[in-house]
Amino acid sequence: MADVLQFKGKPRMPDQTLCRNGHHRWEVVKSDPFAVRRGELITRFRCKRCGKEKTKAQ
Ligand SMILES: [Zn+2]
Repeated sequence: MADVLQFKGKPRMPDQTLCRNGHHRWEVVKSDPFAVRRGELITRFRCKRCGKEKTKAQ
């Protein structure tokens, strides 16, 4: 069980700590069916780490 003890305490996904602090790793989502909303072009972003999405009007 030594391996288990060694593994314990190590964060599984340290990157997501950044996400919780608001530092997401945004990448543009392409082929977005909702790209055009009310006549405005919307760019959608998704975080590569946690999957959170946001949109930005051009
Ligand atoms: Zn994130």
